[in-house]
Amino acid sequence: MMKILVINTGSSSIKYKLFDFPEKQEISQGTVERIGEENGSLHFEASTPEGKRIEHTLEQPFENHQSGLQEIARILLNPAYHMLKSAQEVQAIGHRVVHGGEVFKAPVVISEAVTAQIKALIPLAPLHNPANLTGIEVARKVFPQATQVAVFDTAFHQSLPDYAYRYAVPHRFYKENSVRVYGMHGTSHQYVAGQAATYLDKPLKRLNLITIHLGNGCSMTAIRQGKSIDTSMGFSPLAGLMMGTRSGDIDPAVVLYMGEQLGMSLQEIDHILNKESGLKGLTGSNDLRDVTRRLEEGDPQAQLALTMYTYRIRKYIGAYVAILGRVDALVFTAGVGENSTLIRSRSCQELSHIGIHIDERKNEQPAQGIREVQADDSPVKILIVPTNEELAIAQQTYALVH
Ligand code: ADP
Repeated sequence: MMKILVINTGSSSIKYKLFDFPEKQEISQGTVERIGEENGSLHFEASTPEGKRIEHTLEQPFENHQSGLQEIARILLNPAYHMLKSAQEVQAIGHRVVHGGEVFKAPVVISEAVTAQIKALIPLAPLHNPANLTGIEVARKVFPQATQVAVFDTAFHQSLPDYAYRYAVPHRFYKENSVRVYGMHGTSHQYVAGQAATYLDKPLKRLNLITIHLGNGCSMTAIRQGKSIDTSMGFSPLAGLMMGTRSGDIDPAVVLYMGEQLGMSLQEIDHILNKESGLKGLTGSNDLRDVTRRLEEGDPQAQLALTMYTYRIRKYIGAYVAILGRVDALVFTAGVGENSTLIRSRSCQELSHIGIHIDERKNEQPAQGIREVQADDSPVKILIVPTNEELAIAQQTYALVH
């Protein structure tokens, strides 16, 4: 028996989940938000051994990440909740680290050398890696006895072949400046692929899959014999599919035009493409539920946005069928992929000539857990697989330390 804490640290937030291993049972989860601001808060949920659900929100300022994690530890150690008897029970902490560059192809136990390498990768993920490093630093202080493990969002895509990860720009940008495709959401793509293999009762290394992660951020991965061979995000999470607030693929000349002709600064362009584009840019809302509601009310902007969103998913499905040859299953996951019948239906429209045929009735049936929604005559299966990045991080952490 061991308790594993998973931590996802942002610039002003810490999300955590506590698991019991090897049972993979979730004991508690929560979030500290608006660290460093007056109106900070900590929300947590837990279930007691008797199965009673506890949910609580604390409204108080947190001066820094360390005080946030200390408060999490205090709650986990509160005897009334029966979650932890002592801090020593947490034998390992799994950290989500966004960028592992070309260095990290798998999870690692964090040493001084590892933190130095994560630091060296900051230019590739200037917002995320520093926050992840802060998380590691404070976790060492609050849980000094725990083994700290880093699980990288980019690692799963390190198997891409060079002709898929290189950009056709002068060689030196790759060699000297690390400009290449890295891809993101690797932990989720890898997890749902593994879940799909278990569900299909086949070894993952015999399966060809197209995994479609549609959350606020969206990405697709072509998986051949269990390995990522191409993915829609690129050097950054801005590439590929249309997302909640990101543009996805765009002619880079638009960026030049915005700068040269429209007089916008790099910062402004960054903000527009990352925070004001995608569903939000086209409709005003980045929440797919709002956009769907407006579509039902006949709003032409919502109509266009959803057509563009699914058109691009279909283009990537076509591209990935072409590079994979045989495809065993499409796998939909994350907030939109798991919940939106409309998006799944439209993403699979008019693809029966390439073996993808959705059964609308199955697709519309509400259900929890893994399910398949292809028509009986569809050679390619269409699966809905709930993702759980924290559990995936906990599993990878457990595998390294036990
Ligand atoms: P994140 O990338 O932040 O983890 P999620 O995976 O939670 O995001 O996905 C968020 C998206 O999922 C939002 O656009 C939200 O509208 C969408 N979503 C959540 N529930 C539903 C639902 N029942 N139907 C349609 N879309 C949903």
